[in-house]
Amino acid sequence: MGKLRQSQGDSGGMPAPVSDFLYRAWIEPVLSFGEEICCTAGSARLASLQAAAAKRILGVSSRTINDGALELMGWARIGDKRKASLVKYARYVNQLEDERLVSRVWRAATVDQTKRDNMRPLASWCEGLMKKDPWSKIPLDGPKASVRKLAKAAAMSETLGAFEEGSRKEPKADVLGRAAPEPLGHMAPYLHQRLPDDLNAGREEKTRCLLGTIRLHVDMMRATGHPRDQRTCLCCQQGEVEDPFHFLIGCSSRADLTRALRDDLAEHDETNEDMFLRVMSPEYDDADESRVLYRHIAACRAHRDSVDPSDNSATAARAHPARSELRNDSDD
Ligand SMILES: [Zn+2]
Repeated sequence: MGKLRQSQGDSGGMPAPVSDFLYRAWIEPVLSFGEEICCTAGSARLASLQAAAAKRILGVSSRTINDGALELMGWARIGDKRKASLVKYARYVNQLEDERLVSRVWRAATVDQTKRDNMRPLASWCEGLMKKDPWSKIPLDGPKASVRKLAKAAAMSETLGAFEEGSRKEPKADVLGRAAPEPLGHMAPYLHQRLPDDLNAGREEKTRCLLGTIRLHVDMMRATGHPRDQRTCLCCQQGEVEDPFHFLIGCSSRADLTRALRDDLAEHDETNEDMFLRVMSPEYDDADESRVLYRHIAACRAHRDSVDPSDNSATAARAHPARSELRNDSDD
């Protein structure tokens, strides 16, 4: 995570797909393997770390909605991935022939306890298993066929125990019948290009807007308890709520920027609403037009902050997003 932070911190760092690859290839497998095998961290901690990595790559604040950041990155939740692998394992155990499954347990049960040093790892694993509930209830001196049946039931019950969530217990049929969770899709295409700094600023601004943490009065004045209709734009002073649409398209003080954008997009002949959707679309990946859109977003931000520097701390944070967010993060 430290390396990811260093490489991604400042605008114009590694392109999102490269960081995405590094995280998925090197960071997450090690952590989830470590969590399962060595029990080093809780899965809730892993989930928050995954969200933190997504936000790091996107360059947005840590106070953003986790699911939104994962969706833009095209990542499945770490809990869902685990569930999918448990479903696979449960299916495997369920379909395993009785002979193969039980012979392992049987071997362990009948192993000569005086030769412990020669015990193979599988056998010692089985031996540990046999001491646990419900394995310990299997009468090993009973008929072999009934031991097989009980051992398979115990294997299933242990596997399904992993599906318990709080007080809710999912019936076996539900778990085995369910397909693996749908992946959230792919990384949003607009994140793919490597961009120069001036365009990257526009893209970061767009990502903040998509995740609902753009620094506009509609969001910033929520904290101060102002009702929505009082969170108005100071640029045009016309009492309109400063929301993303007003910020990018609607504000009369930036009518020249909106007109220029309309000229640049002349071939599409769009309404204001369509233009806004085009600016905000995560599917957008046309290189030439995205330049126009990013420049527009960055120009709106520059104009807005020059007229209304009411959030100086946020402006400073924007100049050095990596450093300010570094302090906020508690993950590692
Ligand atoms: Zn305005």
